[in-house]
Amino acid sequence: MKTYLSSGEVFLGHRLVGEHPERPERLQAVLTAIDGSDLVGRFRWLPPRRATDEELLRVHTAPYLADLRQRMGDLQPKGQGWLDPDTYYGPGTYQAALHAAGTACELALRIAESSGDNGFALVRPPGHHASSDRAMGFCLLNNVAVAAAAVRATGRRVAIVDFDVHHGNGTEEIFARDGSVLVISLHQFPFYPGSGAATAIGEGNGRGFIVNIPLPEGSAGPEYKLACKRVVLPVLRRFAPDVILVSAGFDGHAQDSLAGMGLVEDDYAAMVASLLAVQSRLVLVLEGGYHTSALPASVLSVLRVLIDATGPGGPGGYRPSGHDAGTAASDEVRRLLGELQKLHGL
Ligand SMILES: [Zn+2]
Repeated sequence: MKTYLSSGEVFLGHRLVGEHPERPERLQAVLTAIDGSDLVGRFRWLPPRRATDEELLRVHTAPYLADLRQRMGDLQPKGQGWLDPDTYYGPGTYQAALHAAGTACELALRIAESSGDNGFALVRPPGHHASSDRAMGFCLLNNVAVAAAAVRATGRRVAIVDFDVHHGNGTEEIFARDGSVLVISLHQFPFYPGSGAATAIGEGNGRGFIVNIPLPEGSAGPEYKLACKRVVLPVLRRFAPDVILVSAGFDGHAQDSLAGMGLVEDDYAAMVASLLAVQSRLVLVLEGGYHTSALPASVLSVLRVLIDATGPGGPGGYRPSGHDAGTAASDEVRRLLGELQKLHGL
């Protein structure tokens, strides 16, 4: 069993002249932390590549892709602009976005065909707010959706788990009427982007294939752990995916100032370990995470799980938030999870 890691300089080229939380320093901090860790030499590097038109067109509309190319394809060195109030682009953005989607695809295809390898695509810009025809919330192309569609095209079953603190509204919109891809999102609610209520479960053929777990502000390890046990893992086991893709955002970390959750790095490790226990073919794709020390610490913690394939209580000796004190999940979350179990027939 191998762990693949994919990243590159091309993802640092997406930058704004001015202040913005989604900045290249995020990824640079992660790469520096990996370089300085004991994990060097314990994974295989996979070079980034561009997404093909065929791959992008499974998810995005031709007019939207043409619009992106026209606005950003030949941008002058000092040119920059905005696709929505939060989503900037600069001269390096077009190549970064194409490579983010392509790299997620390449890694997902590699893992899907393996006998149980896993991997992490350390890419930016992020993707899960991008819909078929609209950029939103720092996202231009929906990297994880493009990768899921690529794996599905090989005849394999794909599930997406999104633990970024924001609802993965773009991914939901892309697969809401589909029924061949299971999409599970755990997120702070109510919060940006406003969608992601428990009652949004997909439509038509997709009914029941969208699972939203809207957690209240302040949720931490105990709430996420119970949500996994009661809803995420049973739904995944029932769907029996050949590969699980993860929209791996780390902005639910207690130190991250963009949101109000209380996760620590070991909570992410525990979550990834529980997903690995369902399906060892696991592919993580970086989404949010804006604190330049909490983000690399969380990525390293998750990488250790991928490399060692050990769960909580294993050699890693995880200490998820709240567990030492025996903290139970809040009553509000217990009630929510009970409702979700009924809604999804668990
Ligand atoms: Zn986010």
